[in-house]
Amino acid sequence: MSQTHTLIIGAGAAGMMAAAVAGQRGASVLLIDHSSKIGEKIRISGGGRCNFTNVALDGGDASKYFISQNPRFVRPALAHYTAKDFVQLLKMHRVTFHEKHKGQLFCDDSANDVIDVLRAECAAGKVEWRTNCAVKNIRLLNEDSGARFEVDTSTAGVWRCQNLIIATGGLSVPAIGATGFGYEVARQFGHTVTELSPGLVPLTFGNWAQDGWNALAGVALPVRVSAGEGKKAMAFDEDFLISHKGLTGPAILQISNYWQQGESIRVNLCPDVDLEKALRQGKVGSRMQLDTALTQLAPNLPKRLLQHSFEQAAFAPYAKHKWADVSDKVLRELAASLNAWTLKPSGTEGYKKAEVTRGGVAVKEINNQTMESRLQKGLYFIGEVMDVTGWLGGYNFQWAWASGMAAGMAVSDK
Ligand code: FAD
Repeated sequence: MSQTHTLIIGAGAAGMMAAAVAGQRGASVLLIDHSSKIGEKIRISGGGRCNFTNVALDGGDASKYFISQNPRFVRPALAHYTAKDFVQLLKMHRVTFHEKHKGQLFCDDSANDVIDVLRAECAAGKVEWRTNCAVKNIRLLNEDSGARFEVDTSTAGVWRCQNLIIATGGLSVPAIGATGFGYEVARQFGHTVTELSPGLVPLTFGNWAQDGWNALAGVALPVRVSAGEGKKAMAFDEDFLISHKGLTGPAILQISNYWQQGESIRVNLCPDVDLEKALRQGKVGSRMQLDTALTQLAPNLPKRLLQHSFEQAAFAPYAKHKWADVSDKVLRELAASLNAWTLKPSGTEGYKKAEVTRGGVAVKEINNQTMESRLQKGLYFIGEVMDVTGWLGGYNFQWAWASGMAAGMAVSDK
């Protein structure tokens, strides 16, 4: 039997950060992962360049970028370890990066740079590693045994530890090692796991191919996409992309975090133009055909998409009509079909394609300063395994870094 001060399960973004911090502050740390490679999600993130944080987080209330039963839960950890702090860490290791879009920071070269930084930081903290190592059992020990937990592993024997940090992430992309193990541990210790579903994920639609939308695969444009009503309404101005299976692109991934099964989403295909107003005002005295008028009023709208929208919304017969002769009622309905295209997704492309998991270990049962369980002393949850889901754009990694930092500091203070 072996002994360590802190045992961390999951050598991903959050687990490596926690290990490095605890190790550098003097704790003996064992970091276990069942995969052969560590940090696989970092490696595939951001198209291979890892969108490792977002500078918008340092500019106000960070909680608005997160979905959780209690989004305010994220505030202390993100205020303590900021986007600037992670940037500083990369600079220290001479990793170069750039801002791409809306505050999103990406590596200039490769996501592997981030993995190398975390590896080096772990090495500086003398963190011990075990890859290809699964955890079979976790037992709680008597107070007088000198340790709190006993962990049976598949390849590293039995380990005892004072602190156990669960950093096993969510369910997305099982092909690179995602499992629901963290949720099982949470339940073992009496925690609530909120409803889980794929997040930041492409949306699918029932009759996509029958309705001919798949023929438009590859069409992309900036849109405003929205979901929900009243106080729960959310909207994003981003690009969307038509695919063979449905809709994807940043706009759709963002709204998928807020979309609930059975609800509709609305897509404004020409967010810069109030088409109803423009169509009604412009028609007076015009000799133009309606389809020509629309291509002039909404120049960003690809013609193929316009034509298909016309057909789907049964406006095709009016396309060649003289604009001035088309009734205001038809123009209003046509404008609505483009400015507020309403469609009901049948589902998502699932965990195989999702970037994150919505839901997780309920945050009300976790201390938001330390990430320690309120139900079991010495047990910590960090990163995506918790009911904390960030927007697309570097927010999920910043949560992993910040929650990892909080737990790493907390365990090494003991
Ligand atoms: P992970 O990084 O997933 O790490 C969990 C670790 O636990 C893994 O190494 C896994 O092998 C291990 N593990 C799982 N089960 C077990 C078990 N039973 N036993 C032992 N080990 C186990 N976020 C951003 O902010 N920016 C991006 O650019 C970005 N791009 C993404 C692109 C893709 C394709 C995907 C899928 C996600 C992306 N994300 C991005 C989300 C981000 O990767 C995650 O939110 C983040 O990695 C979560 O960190 P984590 O440490 O909690 O979990």
